[in-house]
Parts: sequence; structure tokens; C-alpha cells
Amino acid sequence: MWNKRPLDGIGPNPFGRADAGNEQLTADSSKCPSCGSNIVYAPELEAMMCRNCGNIYDPNTLESRGSFGVNKERDYTGDSDVSEDDKRRHEIVCNSCGATLVADENTMSTMCPFCGSPALITRRMSREFKPDYIIPFKVDKTRAQKIMTEWLASRKYTPRGFKSKSRLTKMTALYVPFWLLDCVVTTELSGTGKRIRGCEKTIYEVNSTINYYVKGVPFDASLRVANKLMEAIEPFDYSELVRFEDKYLQGFYADKYDQLPTEMTERIVKRMNKFSNSESGQISSKYDAYEDRPEKSLTWMKEVSMSYCLLPVWFMTVEFDGRQYQFAINGQTGEASGQVPTSDTIYLPGKLRDFLNTKWIIVALGIFLVISFMLARTVSLPAVDTTKTTIVIFLSVLGAIDLIGSIVLLVLRSVLNRVFIGASNAYDINDFDEDPGLDNYFDLTRHADIKINETMLRHVSVITDENGRVVGERSIEI
Ligand SMILES: [Zn+2]
Ligand SMILES: [Zn+2]
Repeated sequence: MWNKRPLDGIGPNPFGRADAGNEQLTADSSKCPSCGSNIVYAPELEAMMCRNCGNIYDPNTLESRGSFGVNKERDYTGDSDVSEDDKRRHEIVCNSCGATLVADENTMSTMCPFCGSPALITRRMSREFKPDYIIPFKVDKTRAQKIMTEWLASRKYTPRGFKSKSRLTKMTALYVPFWLLDCVVTTELSGTGKRIRGCEKTIYEVNSTINYYVKGVPFDASLRVANKLMEAIEPFDYSELVRFEDKYLQGFYADKYDQLPTEMTERIVKRMNKFSNSESGQISSKYDAYEDRPEKSLTWMKEVSMSYCLLPVWFMTVEFDGRQYQFAINGQTGEASGQVPTSDTIYLPGKLRDFLNTKWIIVALGIFLVISFMLARTVSLPAVDTTKTTIVIFLSVLGAIDLIGSIVLLVLRSVLNRVFIGASNAYDINDFDEDPGLDNYFDLTRHADIKINETMLRHVSVITDENGRVVGERSIEI
């Protein structure tokens, strides 16, 4: 494992953004100065905390105390002068999309990895570039092209012409900046539990605290790289993480980070909070019924340390129908991902099939029964005139349309089910939207636990009459 950067160590401290906390707020304000959500008191931190973005504030002055429960220790000074090493590098700026990349002085620029534009200009370094660690590329261009060809072939419902437009020669190797996060996560969860014994129910207010340690959770620090795309090609194998050296950059581009951890608190807190809430099953198993309130959960992080790392990624951008599609391959493991367009010709029958697989037939049957009933009533009327005949013919035709239509749709459904197996799931076959979770990042050397604290709210007993029928409930508040 790598040596993590301690908060008081060398290099940029991710938690001391210089501009944070300078503004004073009135004490009666209860909105988060950073995102506008409501803030609540977190007793363990002795601070006000925002449920949404995770920033914490002094309870009296609402002055920022940093994020994740880490107090501000020193100011971040990332814009320091360029070092001697930096003088051997240059920046490549894309005139088309504005991306700024770093390369060594011998690496010539041909095209932008983000937008594919060849309009690149080279200039001197403008800001310090000093990553702590790097995972060197293991997947070469030939292998990356092979992986992408196979991956695209496995996407069955892409529109005609998309794959042929995907120019594999345009793949670019890029080191993407990441913050790797180590910390202990604490989440407070609340819910209502119920225990049932015969006719007696006991209702509890349940407050639980879940604690666990994570190591190396990656957060991409480049605004230009889609977060979801990077999450989709996780995980990286950190056993190959080494101290950054110039030689690794030779022949490659690197992106500079443009987001500090303090600027991504919301993203970080959401990922942790989502995982914590997914563990509520451990609480619900203690009750006969349990209802959680995920919107009330509060997550914070302590013992935080961050490393600034470059991780290897192959990029490809495909322009199709006026939209840009970005693809990425993990340059270490070969895991590929991206969002492919879905073909309309397959998509529409898929939608239709989805509809036909719903319970529409019950509605059709109901309509048929109503028509039959009305028809029977009309026929049984004693009078014989043209109005009656017209109504009988009208109702018969309507009933026939409903019946024949239903049969046609049923046949169509079985045909579509046979022909388009999985077609309506064309979006789902993209692993793009999968939640990356935290499974790969638990620090198993440290103890994780859930503490469940319940308060009895009330007893409810069911009242029955002499025949044993339930006639009501009696509730006793405690
Ligand atoms: Zn907030
Ligand atoms: Zn560009």
C-alpha cells in the first residue's frame, strides 16, 4: 500500500481552501452557506453540518470549519511557482474545448483526448504540477483498440453506423488526476421499528450509528472527465501505485486536477451516505417491520487523508448525430465503459413490448364486460325500433373491436417477446449507471460496527369482539 499524505504533511492540504470560511454569517441562519440546504447539529463534531454537501460550520458563528469533520489546519497553496521539474514540461491547451493537459517537452500534441480536435497550442506551465503517486500504463494501444472493438461489439442495440464511426485510431492515453480518500465514515440513521407478539405490537424509534473505514476511494479531480465514466472503470489495483517520477510521463498526456477535495464534498458525502443507507438491512432484520428515513441520515468523515494520484485511462470520443460520446478503458485492468446511443428501431418495439407486458389486458377485458352487459340490457328491452337496432350494432362492433384488438395485441406481444429478447433493456446493458459502491475499498484491518439504539414509543393492542373479529386498536403511549 502507498504512504498516504498526512494532513499536516508536505504538499497541498486538500482541506484548507483559502477562500473558505472568510465570510461570517448570522447565527440564526440555518441554511448551508455552501449549498443552501438545511444544516443540523452533529453532536459528535460539536458543529453544524450540512446533510447535503457535508460541509461543517461553527455552531455559533457558522464560520466554515472545513469539510468531512476535519478542521481547517492550513491554507492550500496549490498555485505556488512552477518547480524545476515543471520547466521540462509544457501545457497543451485545446482551442476547441479548453482542456489543459500536461506533457513532457518531447511529447508532441496531435489531438485533444476529450473532443478529438487537432487545434492544440503548446505553452509554458502555468501552475505547479506535482502528483504524489501514479499507476503506470499497462494496457498498450493495440490492446486498448482490441478491448474497445470487443466492447462495442457486445453493445447489441447501437444504431447502424455508430460502430463504423468509432475511429479506434483516435484513442488517447491520458493520466487522469484522482484524489484517493482514506477515512473513517460515520452515519447516523433513523427509522421506526415494529415488533409483533400475537395481538400486541410495540413501536420503537430506532437511531443507529454505523462506522466503517475505507481506504483509497477514488474521486476524479478533473471537471472535464465524466465522474460516472471514471466510476464505471473502477477499481484500480493500488498494489502497483508508485511515487510519481518524470519517466512515467514520457510519451503520455496528463490532466491537471481542477477540483480540490473541498470542492467535491457533496460528491464524496453522497457516495458514503448511499452506502451507509444500503446497510439498513442489518437494522431491519432486528424487527418484524422496519421503515427507515434515509432523508434524515447524516454522514461525516474523520481521520481523513488524501493522496493526489495519476491513474491511467484510454479515452475515445465519438461524434454521432451531433452528440459526443466518451469512452474509457482502465489503462491498468482493461475494464471498458461508456455510453452508447440506443437504436430507435430497436428501442420503439422494445417500448411497445414493455407496454404489452403490463396489465392492459385486464382493462381490455373490463371494457369488454361492460359492453356485453350494456348489449344484454339493450337486447332485453321490449321495444323494437331503429334506435335500439343502431345501439345493438354499435355495441357489437365496439365489443368485436375490443376483443379482436386484444387478440392481435396478445399475438404481437408473444412475437415481440420472442424477437426482441432484452431489447427494451438496451439502456441497462450499459454498466454505466451502476452504483460503484464501496466494496473494493473497505479497510478490513479496522473494525466496522453498527450500534442500534431503540426507544419504545407505544404499545398497540388489537381489540376483538366476542367472536374474535378485529374491531379496533388500543394504543398506549410510553
Ligand atoms: Zn451544504
Ligand atoms: Zn478538446
